[in-house]
Amino acid sequence: MDQKRTAILVVLDGLGDRPVIELGGLTPLQAAKTPNLDQLAAEGQTGLMYVISPGVTPGSDVAHLFLFGYDPLTHYPGRGALEVLGTELPFKPGDIGFRANFATVDSDLTVTDRRAGRNITPEEGRILQKAIDGLVIDGIKVHFTHTVQHRGALVLEGNGLSDKITSVDPRETGLKILESKPLEPKAKKTAKVVNKLVQIAHERLRDLEVNKKREKKGLLPANALLLRGPGQLDVVKTLKDLWGVKSAVIAGGALYIGTAKYVGMEHVPVEGQTGTIDTNFDNIAEKAIECVDSGYDFIFVHIKATDNASHDQDAKKKVLAIERSDAMIGKIVDALHERVVLIVTADHSTPIAVGEHTCDPVPVLLWSSFIRADSVQAFSELDAAKGALHNFRGLSLLPLMFGYAGLLEKVGA
Ligand SMILES: [Zn+2]
Repeated sequence: MDQKRTAILVVLDGLGDRPVIELGGLTPLQAAKTPNLDQLAAEGQTGLMYVISPGVTPGSDVAHLFLFGYDPLTHYPGRGALEVLGTELPFKPGDIGFRANFATVDSDLTVTDRRAGRNITPEEGRILQKAIDGLVIDGIKVHFTHTVQHRGALVLEGNGLSDKITSVDPRETGLKILESKPLEPKAKKTAKVVNKLVQIAHERLRDLEVNKKREKKGLLPANALLLRGPGQLDVVKTLKDLWGVKSAVIAGGALYIGTAKYVGMEHVPVEGQTGTIDTNFDNIAEKAIECVDSGYDFIFVHIKATDNASHDQDAKKKVLAIERSDAMIGKIVDALHERVVLIVTADHSTPIAVGEHTCDPVPVLLWSSFIRADSVQAFSELDAAKGALHNFRGLSLLPLMFGYAGLLEKVGA
């Protein structure tokens, strides 16, 4: 068995792309100046990964479960539950977790903007949060926290709840907020509470001073709450149970923190980590280095900026996010070198030209100081197609990394 090293998985969310006309027919990863990633690719191995399987377009939560070695067909608590786990909200088996959006509606609850202008400040979020958090409806307690921009997470706590209800989110503007319906008889109570909550939230948010101020400034009021992805907490075997590893997550977004915590990773907060292009890449690198020093076997670092730029179809911003990530990765490897096994990859492709997730496989870079190099000299989707790792599926990623990190036992005598 190889000497033990720390496994570091860096996921640049939505990194995979296709040729972009604005970038002269290059992908953002090809166009970006990435001296560190290119050197690591030259010294290591590359390949392409089908995160779920060929032809399947992954959602971010499911994709990460595959990368962590879990098959969401057997382990999937629902996005709302994962999002809630990524916050400080109390959440226990029996409770129902939701993703929540502040939205703008008119007086008959017709949605005019699903994200209330996408520009709610942390200060405004704190005030809006107070109007919802702590409500009690039919004996069910409501816990709510604002996370970032228009986003939040919500928990219903009480007896006899079920996550088998339909969503209230109409998914497009110009339609009324939907009535939640039970999908099984015992979910009647939950659907009723959700419908009352939507109404009460609207009445409370509508009358807040903060919304009147927003309207005066020409901004959209955050006067409604859209709840999505209901899910109940289930308990799975952790990475520690399965592999005996002590693991940590360094991420900015609640969904990624929550998905990692679901499989037993410890959340390590980083000052200035925001999940945007302005996240503090230096602090993230330093925290990763610190985690190796403090004895973690596996560290998952998540960068969201690449995916945000992809959804905004902003090629230049995606290039910038990749370049900043490159510098961050360079800093980590320079400091740790022979102490780590590193993988840099993505959870899915989000091509600039599409602005949504697609089924294109993602590039993978595997590096360690001792690894047998292939002939690939740069890190990109096209170069990785020629690499030694060839094509493989997401469920193989963790064992691949753990094997080289000396974290797996020999099979057989
Ligand atoms: Zn993603």
